[in-house]
Amino acid sequence: MSGGGTCLKHGPQESWAIVCLGIGDALKEDQAVGFVWGGDDGARWALCSHCDKQIAQGHARPHKPVPLCNACFIEAWQLNGKPEKFE
Ligand SMILES: [Zn+2]
Ligand SMILES: [Zn+2]
Repeated sequence: MSGGGTCLKHGPQESWAIVCLGIGDALKEDQAVGFVWGGDDGARWALCSHCDKQIAQGHARPHKPVPLCNACFIEAWQLNGKPEKFE
């Protein structure tokens, strides 16, 4: 997703990632909930461990997707121990 928008924390942003709501909520409370991520610059995505497990078992994703600015995305990634990119 691109084309502007404003992050409450980081101000106006040009590039956004898509993450599950579990990660979005956990970031606000500085909680690590897992961070399975992939994608390229400008089109990154991430899921919490719960969503990742449910999808792996063939279930629907529990959390809805929400946009997260790239700076927030990096913060969530660091909070979760900087996991390697999912290929
Ligand atoms: Zn999730
Ligand atoms: Zn942000």
